[in-house]
Amino acid sequence: MAIISPVDEQEIRVQELKGFADADGRVEVSMLRLDKIHPIISGNKWFKLKYSIEAAITAQKSTLLSFGGAYSNHLIATAAAAHRLGFSSVAIVRGLQEASPLNNVLQQCEAYGMHLHFVSREDYAQKESTEFLQEIQRQYPDAYIIPEGGANKEGQKGAAMIAQYIPPDCTHIALSIGTGTTFIGLRNVLPIHQSLLGFAPMKGGIYLQNSIASALLPEQNHQWSISDRFHFGGFGKKTTETDAFMADFESRYNIILDRVYTAKMMMGIQTLIHEDTFEKGSKILCIHTGGLTGN
Ligand SMILES: *Cc1c(COP(=O)(O)O)cnc(C)c1O
Repeated sequence: MAIISPVDEQEIRVQELKGFADADGRVEVSMLRLDKIHPIISGNKWFKLKYSIEAAITAQKSTLLSFGGAYSNHLIATAAAAHRLGFSSVAIVRGLQEASPLNNVLQQCEAYGMHLHFVSREDYAQKESTEFLQEIQRQYPDAYIIPEGGANKEGQKGAAMIAQYIPPDCTHIALSIGTGTTFIGLRNVLPIHQSLLGFAPMKGGIYLQNSIASALLPEQNHQWSISDRFHFGGFGKKTTETDAFMADFESRYNIILDRVYTAKMMMGIQTLIHEDTFEKGSKILCIHTGGLTGN
């Protein structure tokens, strides 16, 4: 069943980043503005949710339930989409101490009518176990359960739809990764001559390689890599360096980057260009995956 989209995909466009990393004449850098579709249901989050919401409608469930940390872009996108499409929503939030005071992201979730259900970090770690999920389903019988980060088959299928906005002549595509769902969805459908570069914003993010490799179609399991060099102190850590980079980027291109994911990815791309990683003539498309509510 098709749903009426709460976002405006017409706003998506490719913006050139002239002068980025002083690369002009050697490589071309541009940005795919997925952040433009909606201020809250932004970037990759809508694409990952879309087919789960369709499945919820088919299953005749009235509630969308998902999981996340207290700063989750996925939770706030789920709350806003549910609100807009007439669903109730529930969040299973990691950490009991997050219940008070509520941070800004969770306050906004609540304003969209999302019921916040806090669990301990130990319980949260069980979120994929059958027993835990059965207990959640028993407490919320009307809920359609979506895993953390929208990381299911529906999420991958929705992320694959982003490929239609990627110009066929670009040689490299840069994408920040959390669960890897968007990365898997895209690698599975992108033409194999386009290389997909994943930027993990957490320490030791290279571990994602195994789960990504096993989720890829064998014939698509080529031309991709993950780098975890550019976490700048770890997941969500801000530094004066990242802040200065974001301010400079905004003043040059009028694009606001998110502190957790895309700012660190762009700092990584800049370094890789300075290190002469890309052949002359490469066309690098950096995906702006949105997520500005966390800023
Ligand atoms: C959630 C998020 C990601 C990670 O997406 P995954 O599909 O979980 O890998 C990347 N960038 C931004 C801005 C995000 O909010």
